[in-house]
Amino acid sequence: MKTMSIIVPCYNEEEAIPLFYNEISKIANLLKTKYKLITECIIVNDGSSDETLKTIKMLAQNDPILKYISFSRNFGKESAIYAGLEYSTGDFVAIMDVDLQDPPELLEEMYLSIINENFDCVATRRVTRKGEPPIRSFFARCFYKLINKMSKIEIVDGARDYRLMTRQMVDAIINVKEYNRFSKGIFSWVGFETKWLEYENRERIAGETKWSFWKLFLYSLDGIVAYTTAPLAIASIVGVLCCFIAIIMIGVFIIKTIIWGDPVAGYPSMICVILLIGGLQLFCIGILGEYLAKTYLETKKRPIYIMKEKSKNEKDK
Ligand code: UDP
Ligand code: MG
Repeated sequence: MKTMSIIVPCYNEEEAIPLFYNEISKIANLLKTKYKLITECIIVNDGSSDETLKTIKMLAQNDPILKYISFSRNFGKESAIYAGLEYSTGDFVAIMDVDLQDPPELLEEMYLSIINENFDCVATRRVTRKGEPPIRSFFARCFYKLINKMSKIEIVDGARDYRLMTRQMVDAIINVKEYNRFSKGIFSWVGFETKWLEYENRERIAGETKWSFWKLFLYSLDGIVAYTTAPLAIASIVGVLCCFIAIIMIGVFIIKTIIWGDPVAGYPSMICVILLIGGLQLFCIGILGEYLAKTYLETKKRPIYIMKEKSKNEKDK
């Protein structure tokens, strides 16, 4: 019999968990009767400060398909996904949000695609961003355009983390042990055949999104720094360009002085140029700094997450 693990990162989701559990047990039953596919659901409590863990424990008591891992503090969704992948045992592994924005009924179609069409991964993307603030959608679009232009790997616009993967692909992802994780990039970097399913955006069933605009902005910078070194090249190009302009200007001024003499003038334009060059230099140092900071964090080799407790039916690593 084949098995499937569903990984569910949760951060302050006490309201959403019971609703999620209802839906997922329906799907698990369906998959079991129709395809003899056994499901386990690994809920990763990412250091929630509300009653999330208590809710999970209560539900897990009565249903062995539920397992949980609980972190010592909030490590972020990326770390939660990694922990879930490490503890998953299934032949197939899915990643799903707890807020039902990822339609659980798609699991059946995903499973069939892997079995019948020989895909290694079936991933999902939203074709609409209905219900999202327009300014957020605008910046998201810009981000995808930018990162796809600058990096060699392809990151699909509107791609979700919601996907079903084979064991082989999951093992490949677990082997990518970097500390600054950007899952969408890692999924694409490991390769394998991926099929994309599309669906309309859905609103969260309960609770609130954990992503403020600022958090998303920083996350997108992380993605760019993690998957392309193009900004470093931009710094060099800007530097070369400035030198080039300076050399031409020197020539122009020497000739001008020889022909017309040298009256001291142009104080305001001088200040403008100094400010512009100073700004460019700081900007380029900033880019360098971003990469240096990531390298620094990476060399520390800190663990990606720290587990505080797990359910009894959860495997030892
Ligand atoms: N999440 C998490 N740790 C965090 C933030 C979010 O595990 O630090 C989980 C959250 O509980 C949810 C999923 O990641 O299951 C997606 O979060 P959210 O719905 O807030 O993001 P959005 O759907 O708005 O992108
Ligand atoms: Mg959500």
